[in-house]
Amino acid sequence: MKKVLLALVIPALVFLAGCQKTASKPEVVTTFEPMYEFTKAIVGDKINVENIVASNQEIHEFEPSAKQVATMTNAKVIIYNSNDLEKWVLPIKNKGIKVEASATVDKIKDDPHTWISPKEAIKEVDYITEQLSKKFPDDKKAFEKNASAYLVKLKKLDAEFDTLKDAKQKTFITQHEAFSYLARDYGLHEIAIAGLDPDVEPSPSALAKLKVEMEKAGLKNVYFENNANSKIAETLAKSAGAKLIGINTVEGLSDAQKKAGETYITLMQENLTALKETIK
Ligand SMILES: [Zn+2]
Repeated sequence: MKKVLLALVIPALVFLAGCQKTASKPEVVTTFEPMYEFTKAIVGDKINVENIVASNQEIHEFEPSAKQVATMTNAKVIIYNSNDLEKWVLPIKNKGIKVEASATVDKIKDDPHTWISPKEAIKEVDYITEQLSKKFPDDKKAFEKNASAYLVKLKKLDAEFDTLKDAKQKTFITQHEAFSYLARDYGLHEIAIAGLDPDVEPSPSALAKLKVEMEKAGLKNVYFENNANSKIAETLAKSAGAKLIGINTVEGLSDAQKKAGETYITLMQENLTALKETIK
């Protein structure tokens, strides 16, 4: 009898202990993938970080669940990109601070896509490091050390993008207007088929105008995003006889991408290679 009871009780205790460990509350919560990657690069294993937007979820359309709101409310720090993007963070009253990662970026009106420019990503990592160091002063040195190692990689990426400045042909066509900061920082000219929100479709007359612009500039490529609705880009490419090339706004990373070791940095390197097919 005793043996039977123990056989039932021991696994139950082990199970409970296991639950407690995985359910430990995150001190820092990030909104979506680039914010998570930047923050993890800074804190390492020192602090428990949880990300809100799951892989393959669309950041522009995202609404948190009640459980996610509770997780954010209990967090000491919420790190989000921009007041223009994760508007659902703004009403949350958490127990500590909220960090708008793009606070020091010179903003383009209403456009939240700051992280897609490595130059602005550098500013965001600096700012997150500064704010986390204030909140967790005992870990300041470790954070700064970790951040500088990550910044070496970001600065290398930035230098690679800087080479685009020497190109003669600097115009590129994208599906959604996500590359304005990248264009501004590296001297490029982006023509977007859709607006800031990828789900808003352009009118037939806007598409016709774009076709004329493409022909005028002799552009043969249209950039589209794998995780957004690419029908519009397909329509334009077909009617203008152009080639479709994938580009990534790094608004999320699929499980397959994570498994393959992809990161913000590797995806941005792939973007650079893709852009070089047009910018030359
Ligand atoms: Zn976007």
